[in-house]
Amino acid sequence: MPKEPKTGYDPGLGRKFIFVTGGVMSGLGKGITAASTGRLLANAGFDVTAVKIDPYLNVDAGTMNPYQHGEVYVLKDGGEVDLDLGNYERFLGVDMTSDHNVTTGKTYQEVIERERAGDYLGKTVQIIPHITDDIKRRIREAAAGTDVCIVEVGGTVGDIEGMPYLEALRQFAHEESPENILFAHVTLVPYSKNGEQKTKPTQHSVKELRSIGLQPDIVVGRCDDELETATKEKIALFCDVPTDAVFSNPDVEDIYHVPLMIESENLDEYIMQQLGLAAESLPPSQRDNRWRELVTRERSGTVDIALVGKYDIEDAYMSVYEALKHAGIEERVDVNVLWVDSDEMLDRHESRLEEADGIVVPGGFGSRGTPGKIKAIQYCRERDVPFLGLCLGFQMAVVEHARNVLHLNSAHSAELDSETPHPVIDILPEQYEVEDLGGTMRLGAHTTEISGGSLAEWIYNDTVCTERHRHRYEVNPAYIDELESGALTFSGCAGNRMEILERTDHPFFFGTQFHPEFRSRPDRASPPFVSFIQSVKNELDARRLRDEEVEI
Ligand code: GLN
Repeated sequence: MPKEPKTGYDPGLGRKFIFVTGGVMSGLGKGITAASTGRLLANAGFDVTAVKIDPYLNVDAGTMNPYQHGEVYVLKDGGEVDLDLGNYERFLGVDMTSDHNVTTGKTYQEVIERERAGDYLGKTVQIIPHITDDIKRRIREAAAGTDVCIVEVGGTVGDIEGMPYLEALRQFAHEESPENILFAHVTLVPYSKNGEQKTKPTQHSVKELRSIGLQPDIVVGRCDDELETATKEKIALFCDVPTDAVFSNPDVEDIYHVPLMIESENLDEYIMQQLGLAAESLPPSQRDNRWRELVTRERSGTVDIALVGKYDIEDAYMSVYEALKHAGIEERVDVNVLWVDSDEMLDRHESRLEEADGIVVPGGFGSRGTPGKIKAIQYCRERDVPFLGLCLGFQMAVVEHARNVLHLNSAHSAELDSETPHPVIDILPEQYEVEDLGGTMRLGAHTTEISGGSLAEWIYNDTVCTERHRHRYEVNPAYIDELESGALTFSGCAGNRMEILERTDHPFFFGTQFHPEFRSRPDRASPPFVSFIQSVKNELDARRLRDEEVEI
């Protein structure tokens, strides 16, 4: 029996909701599937946003080691959030806020604070209704003013931590008109040894969903290949969905091709039909086609970029990888990233730097791996190899300069060596008072003033830039004059806080205290990354010319 509409649509609280759950195991790329679907809905003319639910007890991702959940993504408002928010920003082309990342830490903190304030006086405070009400409120508020809000529940159906969220979504659907809600379940369809696509894990995870009162409207099967018709039919039968509500999501080489694949499956059309949006959508000929143009652009050649870091997992540097890719799109080259472990670089990996046309030293915390990073920076400086230093990479460029150019023996960052005689990088003054470690760094968007005539001004084509930050240390103001006595200049600052450095004796040596990678988008590559790739191309061309001359 169809459900009775309980509330009409209230544009102030969002119109349509797609709830995305995951089955069988995590790491299936449900965030990319959801973000890609959102891109297609945006191409069809809708205002799309997303909410990522992380059922862990941390208030935010800021205190987590990148080995656990990959990089900590930083939002404009300073929110330290799950890296999936980065994918949503990149795919949807929107700026999100901390309110778009709901965690158990946030909801419980709020409810417990309200309990202490006496807001629930006389009542027993419980997961249902108090926590579930708070979850629903957060989703509605984050969706306010948009046409479609995609709500992705992290983890897998059946996880204990996820239960209050699934219950909240069940209530949410109960309160809304049925045509405003769509449940999508992204699950794994593995192959058996004899090459058969197996649907049993999917059946089990849908059974688990149904046991908590949720019936998926669509099932998306992650598989090495497309789902066979028989597989789709079996999933449809056992999971009680129409066969045309079962979609394939095979592996693709580049995540930016997922929207094209989803479009070819007609998943976007199906969703618009189900949510009653089809009539309002732009006709296919008028849809925004830029994404397809960007990701299928012809490239002329490949550049090899070394990324010198200490976390040997790609997810730990996701936004840096993506920003390099965006610069490649802009400069029409493929960017091949060579991972160089800064820990091992000193003895075994230095030769790998020779394979690279340019070197990036990304952000980080703690001393492990910093000697290798400093070595890599010295290598760039001495051999005129294009260098881009981000946050800790910027700070280590200052240390390298102090030690090897200015001969300030044992100069270091006070974070990494509290005994250094030359703390050229020191703690931010406002950090002296800080006791808690969560959410207390210098975070989010801050504006940098750029010096006239500098490389930075050329890169940004402006005298200011606003980029995202996440740091506790800075260039020590007491050393600025001395540091600038060589070919190093600080060409961007915020008051007496140094934000950008460059070298005047080098083809491209550029470092930023901020993280430009967090604002980079496929259609709006980050200016420092674009100029870095440009300079890599220029250096390669110059080298080719020199080699040709030698041959003549
Ligand atoms: N650890 C350094 C600081 O806190 C750099 C931070 C970073 O690279 N994000 O200042």
